[in-house]
Amino acid sequence: MNSFLQKSLPGNPLFKGIAGTALAIFLAYSGSYAQSQSPSAHSNPWAPVTPEVLPPIASLSKGVWLKGELHVHSRHSKESFNNSIAKILSFSKAVGIDYICITDHDNHVNGDVAHNTWADPEFKSDSILLLYGAEWTTVRGHGNAFSAKPYDHQRLYDVRDQRDVVVGAVKKELGIHLSANHPSGKDHFGYSYDMVNSIEVWNSAIWSKNAKAIMIWDDMLSSGRKLTGRGGSDAHHGTPEGTEQPSKNTYQAKANYVGTPTTWVFATARTSQAVIDALTNGRVCISSNPYAPRVEFYADIDQDGKMDMMMGDNTKATGKPAKFQVKLTGKTVSDSTYTVNVIKNGDKFGTYQVSGKIASVEFTDTPQAQGRSYYRIEVQGPSTPYPQVPDSIALSGNMVGLSNPIYFNFDPNF
Ligand SMILES: [Zn+2]
Ligand SMILES: [Zn+2]
Repeated sequence: MNSFLQKSLPGNPLFKGIAGTALAIFLAYSGSYAQSQSPSAHSNPWAPVTPEVLPPIASLSKGVWLKGELHVHSRHSKESFNNSIAKILSFSKAVGIDYICITDHDNHVNGDVAHNTWADPEFKSDSILLLYGAEWTTVRGHGNAFSAKPYDHQRLYDVRDQRDVVVGAVKKELGIHLSANHPSGKDHFGYSYDMVNSIEVWNSAIWSKNAKAIMIWDDMLSSGRKLTGRGGSDAHHGTPEGTEQPSKNTYQAKANYVGTPTTWVFATARTSQAVIDALTNGRVCISSNPYAPRVEFYADIDQDGKMDMMMGDNTKATGKPAKFQVKLTGKTVSDSTYTVNVIKNGDKFGTYQVSGKIASVEFTDTPQAQGRSYYRIEVQGPSTPYPQVPDSIALSGNMVGLSNPIYFNFDPNF
């Protein structure tokens, strides 16, 4: 035993001295603690704040529903086959798509999207709004950048291996909308959700593989993030035409292509910027294909019988009951019944059956006056045929569509 240990043992006068001092300090501290505060008086400085005022809700009538595709690869992505931009756009026009973002892998062109996808002479349309974007393809996963106008994508590509605070600062400077792609699958988005504006909750026609993406979305919503859910086919392969040769993945063109799923936005105008704004604000719903019914979700919060807000909107809870309305618009399959599931704060709140030409259901609930709540909708039922992508129906199964949430007491500065 060395001399230091000997000195540190109980019984050693030095140890007694140290122990005595420590006890005295403890008694002094606990005395003052007991006098000044009880355990219940603790207030967490980080506890969520119920906002005093929130920005007014935008008009429910001044706007236009636009349907689009937010994730598709053209021939500028190296693993895409027979998918020229002209082919994507002529198909999109034929099925009534209003806006599209062609999101080629930026790593396939070392970040130089501006001189590849956007510089392609076929990158133009007289009827479809073309967003500028790319799939940000990194070792930490994939995200889509969306913009109404050209931006310096090279900077986003160059910063990809930096820490999130650095990436987030560059993203902010570029003024783009960044979206987390296929968040639970291969190449899932592996960055902070603090820097994204939306999340791809429905990737490709294969609905069943999106369950975990929905779980992550509910987690992020429950954390206080007002985060838009969106769709994207992630289609890579077109149908061969003329002298084009089929590839081993050509079969996919009939199962997953533009519009599987379709993302609807309620935009204030038919412009690219209004599409991006609607996407950021969450006035968005997703349908299994361009012909499937659209899920609209509204709430009447002042009991006057008139709807005051829609999905994506955020307001202060009054402590009084709100009436909610779910509407399936567009072509519902005649003589069919749809199942409407209401999710409140991540948990199932209620299930309703709807049918008829304009299928709709109303329900009432009282969002708590203090603290956050959100409600969102999932609709299941008969699939709507999509003859241009005939094999997609079997893959999306009975999933018809989803809404974005209606929010109460979400802090806009979170
Ligand atoms: Zn990807
Ligand atoms: Zn992709």
